Amino acid sequence: MTTLLTTHDIARIVAAHGLPEVLRRLVAALEADFRRWPEFDKVARVASHTCQGVIELMPVADASHYSFKYVNGHPGNGRFGLPTVMAFGVLADVATGKPVLLSELTLTTAMRTAATSVMAARLLARPGSRTMALIGNGAQSEFQALAFHQLMGIDTLRLYDVDGAATAKLLRHLRAVSGLRLVACRSTAEALQGADIVTTVTADKRNATIVTPEMLAPGMHLNAVGGDCPGKTEMHPGVLQAAHVFVEYEPQSRIEGDVQQMPADFPVTELWRVLTGQAAGRTSEAEVTMFDSVGFALEDFAALRLMGALAAGLGLGQDIDLIPDMADPKDLFGALTAAPSVQGAQKAERAQAPPCRV
Ligand code: NAD
Repeated sequence: MTTLLTTHDIARIVAAHGLPEVLRRLVAALEADFRRWPEFDKVARVASHTCQGVIELMPVADASHYSFKYVNGHPGNGRFGLPTVMAFGVLADVATGKPVLLSELTLTTAMRTAATSVMAARLLARPGSRTMALIGNGAQSEFQALAFHQLMGIDTLRLYDVDGAATAKLLRHLRAVSGLRLVACRSTAEALQGADIVTTVTADKRNATIVTPEMLAPGMHLNAVGGDCPGKTEMHPGVLQAAHVFVEYEPQSRIEGDVQQMPADFPVTELWRVLTGQAAGRTSEAEVTMFDSVGFALEDFAALRLMGALAAGLGLGQDIDLIPDMADPKDLFGALTAAPSVQGAQKAERAQAPPCRV
């Protein structure tokens, strides 16, 4: 049997442990897996682009587990009552190929992305950072805000979104669950004033210029989350020139990150190298650092394993027969004939249906 985790199960895990604890465990799981980076079989994700958005498959494996995530990015989805980003994924046993877990990953992606941002900021932001600008106040924004508040000590948020309703929604949620000092701003430039950390998490299918070089202050850390596809960026190239740029998996980031705007030899540092002490992170108080986040498969691998373990601990999840359950593994045909026929099932349903009175 394969365990199915629905969005309801993930919400129950968060309700049982609390969001700060789930985020803390996600950061720990991410750090543990990024530290053993060379053990993973890695590849840049496979993307299918249209003018409306992108659908991507993200595989990764170590010696014992394989995982993939299906994820989309459609910035215009609000018109259809759908989120910009939706995802699900599978964790499989490498020894047999058996899928052991099939899970929602829309909520989980928001949490793992915020946890990855915190993992990077712990390595790169100035110690004592207290004020964060948060540009883009959509679906991901509460998760980013709360992760930085609860795990990094951010106490003031300066918010901006081109859509005032998105900022109003974020203010409503954050006022209900946190003691954060919240300042709604009229522009990105205003929001960045006095910010130690700048998180950009906007969605627009173009080379947007959210942050320009004149908005930067010495010592800022940029957590650039929304530029994650060819032709979809958030930073003016001058911002990258002014910063020390860190990425997840360089071959994928060169295609999808803000760094896609720069020459192929523009220097970037992979995060795992900083985490393992093989490369320097921030080198001075005044340096501008930038995490050019695109989302890498290893983050979903870590999140799937953690959510699977937390669900098992709480007795959550449902066993489903995604793979046929066979007494004789060579008798696949027997799995067909063991199931009741459609006609038989319909007949049984009709027999049970109450009489229809007009
Ligand atoms: P969303 O559509 O719910 O929210 C995006 C917000 O950005 C909207 O409220 C929109 O009004 C705002 N926006 C657009 N252009 C703007 C601008 N110029 N200035 C200010 N605000 C602007 O999307 P979401 O689910 O919150 O995702 C946000 C982005 O993060 C997407 O681009 C998504 O692809 C990306 N993302 C990245 C990762 C990662 O791992 N790096 C993970 C998840 C999502």
